[in-house]
Amino acid sequence: MSKFITIAVDGYSSSGKSSMAKELARAIGYNYIDSGAMYRAVALYCLNKGYIAGDGVIDTAALESDIDNIAITFSLNPATGRSDTCLNGENVESEIRSMRVSNCVSEVAALPFVRRALVKQQQAMRGRSGIVMDGRDIGTVVFPDAEMKVFVNASARVRAERRHKELIAKGQQVSFDEVLRNVEERDRLDTTRADSPLRCADDAEVLNNDNMTIEEQNRWMLDTFHRKLAEATAAADAQR
Ligand code: C5P
Repeated sequence: MSKFITIAVDGYSSSGKSSMAKELARAIGYNYIDSGAMYRAVALYCLNKGYIAGDGVIDTAALESDIDNIAITFSLNPATGRSDTCLNGENVESEIRSMRVSNCVSEVAALPFVRRALVKQQQAMRGRSGIVMDGRDIGTVVFPDAEMKVFVNASARVRAERRHKELIAKGQQVSFDEVLRNVEERDRLDTTRADSPLRCADDAEVLNNDNMTIEEQNRWMLDTFHRKLAEATAAADAQR
């Protein structure tokens, strides 16, 4: 019997988890959802609507009364073969990756009503086929029953170096120090917030990819997937 499993990939900012999750989903033919892109889209919506003042203070009452008007979808980009994030029908894939959004997304993501709305949408995306979702609370809150949970980590400096390279390659003018500060600040906010803080699920496989090549990481993900799939299939067979 072929069985689909749910795969949760969590970890620190810019740990490479999205690239690994995306590649695994492609290799095994599962759907991939970037939950961080959803929080980024809400942050962009706030900026566009003027819900975030110059000093960074969020007008939470205005955002809460507007939250049901925010529709986030993903659409396949034929040019890249990847799925792009759309906010109320508009492709915002590149805008949500800007430092402007990175600098306010974690405050927006800490709001309990924002999390409730997005977690509900994420849970509804599971469907009947297999899914790989990455984020901060996927293995702990969104899919606590996921058969495969991975927690990815690397030192802040290595993560900031990777992120800086990516942004420069995309033509964004940003210094390494600014990126490092942003990575460290998001780590702090994500791990200390009251609602669904970033933490490693007790039953997650931990991967520190500081000294791993992309190929080694992808191989590790695929090996872990085959092991978890075999375990889940054996458990399902034992129950019959
Ligand atoms: O994954 P990415 O770095 O794009 O996520 C952007 C931000 O969204 C994170 O720093 C975090 O504050 C928030 N996030 C979250 N829960 C998730 C995914 C992302 O709080 N499941």
